[in-house]
Amino acid sequence: MADLENVVIIGSGPAGWSAAIYASRANLHPLVFEGAMTQENQENGTLPLGQLNLTTEVENYAGFPAGAVRGFVLSAVDEDQHGMLPPLPKDEHGHDENKYAVMGPELMMLMRQQAKNFGTRVITDDVVEVDFQTHPFRIKSSEGKEIRAHTCIIATGARANYLGLESESRFKNRGVSACAVCDGALPRFRNKPLVVVGGGDSAVEEATYLAKFASKVHVVHRRDELRASKIMQERAFSNNKIQMEWSHTVDEVLGDDERGLTGVRLVSTKDGSKRDLEAGGMFLAIGHTPNTAFLKGQLDMNAQGYIKWKAPFRTYTSVDGVFAAGDVSDDYYRQAITSAGTGCMAALDAERYLADKGIE
Ligand code: NAP
Repeated sequence: MADLENVVIIGSGPAGWSAAIYASRANLHPLVFEGAMTQENQENGTLPLGQLNLTTEVENYAGFPAGAVRGFVLSAVDEDQHGMLPPLPKDEHGHDENKYAVMGPELMMLMRQQAKNFGTRVITDDVVEVDFQTHPFRIKSSEGKEIRAHTCIIATGARANYLGLESESRFKNRGVSACAVCDGALPRFRNKPLVVVGGGDSAVEEATYLAKFASKVHVVHRRDELRASKIMQERAFSNNKIQMEWSHTVDEVLGDDERGLTGVRLVSTKDGSKRDLEAGGMFLAIGHTPNTAFLKGQLDMNAQGYIKWKAPFRTYTSVDGVFAAGDVSDDYYRQAITSAGTGCMAALDAERYLADKGIE
């Protein structure tokens, strides 16, 4: 008979770990499936620790003003995890910054540690199948482990979108990337003109980051105004290495087998005219898709596949005892701190559900 759990949490971003911290402090002994370290997850951007693991400094997570963060992280996180810490940000002279805002991977390692400190158990594997029609629920991992659970919190987040061009897939990992922070410092991108596609905060953040290495960054946006917040817009407009390519989309990625990507062909959204831009890389920042494929119709979702909450400001899904938190159920706010907040809510909802059913 498969193990029977009180709370199984699927996902390991801010929502998953916040749920685990609350559930473990409530003595519910949660089990977290944090995802597997596979090539496929790497390519999809769905590795453990979620999207924050793919970012640099997080300046807007309350409680983490810039400071000597690394010392604190080293003191808080188990020694066997220290090798996973990202390199420190550099100042303009190439020296390690000693005062900086917490980096995404550091923040996630801190959350994971905090959950573990209260007894959360972690399995480094993907959930590939669930059955929420029977109770206790059935949950199956990619390595064939089967778990039964009284409650389940889905916190699997969302992943970056690509344009879907054939030429784009041809040059994936050979000039095309959806993560500037992961790949931007690679030698192939240094001192070259680069392209970022998109007009939101991610596009500006990626462009600003890439401008440190690139000779120039072209931001290709399909409209003539950015969606990004005002403060991010000002950052882009005041950076003389960033050039806006308004009202254009990428029609084709150019390159050859020997050199990989060498440029992009732009098409105007106003008059359909085309022109080529020389570039060493193209970075996508055009939004996200929720990681809900493994649920295969088990829960009500919207047209984009985001899990629907059954009642406003409750993490209840269409199945009693299954809760959803973080970006997997949020196509609107999508912030680390809102994800953490809904993770907390999901754990409290699960705790109340178990208490109502008399399950300890
Ligand atoms: P987003 O706000 O949804 O922006 C996506 C951008 O991609 C939009 O400008 C959109 O154009 C464009 N786009 C979408 N599909 C496209 C296509 N097929 N071809 C060309 N362009 C396309 O996504 P995001 O920038 O990833 O941000 C998501 C959330 O995370 C937001 O809430 C944002 O505030 C937050 N975030 C915050 C920070 C920060 O504060 N430091 C950093 C990153 C992200 P249109 O504008 O025309 O729709």
